[in-house]
Amino acid sequence: MQSVKIGSLILFLFVALSCEEKKKLDTTTSTEAGPVIEKNDTYYHYSIWWAFVNKVFDADLSVAELKTKGDTGLGSFNLLDGEMVMIDGIAYRVREDGTISEGADTDKIVYANAGFFENDFNLTLEVKEGMDMEGLKSQLLDKLPSPNFFYMFEIEGLFDYMKCGGLTRQEPPFEEGLDVLIPNRPVFEGNRVSGTIVGFYCPDFIGNINVKGFHFHFISDDKKLGGHVMDFKATENIKVGIDKKTDYHFVLPDNADFENVSLEKEFQYKKNDAATDEQ
Ligand SMILES: [Zn+2]
Repeated sequence: MQSVKIGSLILFLFVALSCEEKKKLDTTTSTEAGPVIEKNDTYYHYSIWWAFVNKVFDADLSVAELKTKGDTGLGSFNLLDGEMVMIDGIAYRVREDGTISEGADTDKIVYANAGFFENDFNLTLEVKEGMDMEGLKSQLLDKLPSPNFFYMFEIEGLFDYMKCGGLTRQEPPFEEGLDVLIPNRPVFEGNRVSGTIVGFYCPDFIGNINVKGFHFHFISDDKKLGGHVMDFKATENIKVGIDKKTDYHFVLPDNADFENVSLEKEFQYKKNDAATDEQ
């Protein structure tokens, strides 16, 4: 009888210790005073692509909240006041003049993709003749296990050339949508720059919820160059870390802009609405 009790006690201790060990793996404490962040393997997405391009530029996701959803990500700050690149838990802001700063916890984000990056596997891509962004996309599509999952990427390398796009801060009432703002965006370029491309991939079936295919943002190791990747050239091997995601979570902006936006088509503005009021 006694030995059964001891056996049960040992089993109990083993289970308790195992749970404790698992807890350590699953959670991390952000700061002494901050909340305990539950890590997970979810692809987190804030706002809807068609809402974002249709001038929902004022939203309510704080950097502090974003940090509970991931340590790696990309997106845009409120009022398009900078592109966002998140790496190692820091949300960097690339302003329209190209300067880069760390976003404060109280800063707001209007569109984001994020997740806790867990390296499921690595690829070293062939760069022999030189690679650009289209080459990167086609090699990734070739080598990914399937185009039907979601993926996060951390792509590190020394880039011979890097061309990034920024954003121009907007004030309400917003006149132009991304169809006008993107072709006129500020552009930042650099040569022989080492850094990290943070990337996301969504399958075609994502529809108008998010960007289909690849979306890449870049930040240099010295934090002097960053933004939305428009193109690059690489002639040395680049290292690609890949995190496959099968769990996708999106959150809608809960405000008047989103409540009232038209989502019938990708670019739909009030001036066009006026012409088609009768429909
Ligand atoms: Zn972007």
